[in-house]
Amino acid sequence: MHPEQIIQFRKQLIALKDELIGAMATTANDIKPVVLDQAAVGRVSRGDAMQMQQMALESSRRRERRLISVDQALKRLEKQIYGICVYCDEDINVRRLEIDPTAIRCIKCAEALTK
Ligand SMILES: [Zn+2]
Repeated sequence: MHPEQIIQFRKQLIALKDELIGAMATTANDIKPVVLDQAAVGRVSRGDAMQMQQMALESSRRRERRLISVDQALKRLEKQIYGICVYCDEDINVRRLEIDPTAIRCIKCAEALTK
């Protein structure tokens, strides 16, 4: 991969990481255990509040997983193995990485996995 592309992907990954950490900080409040506070909850029922908490938990788990793959991608950049398929050692198409800079498989291996 071209050194300039490496720099671009590193920037993109760091921005993604910042974004995820920022989002995690703002939703940390939503995943606290449900406290039935009528003043704060208003007309929202306890069931609704718990459902909202569940959704917040789910998206926070998704973000955690995403953050892990961003970190792994940054480590692969450091080790200079970024953009190389973990399965077949072929280069991952740059367009694919532009769509998902955390991709670790080339398109062929990713497709083989879903079959
Ligand atoms: Zn592959």
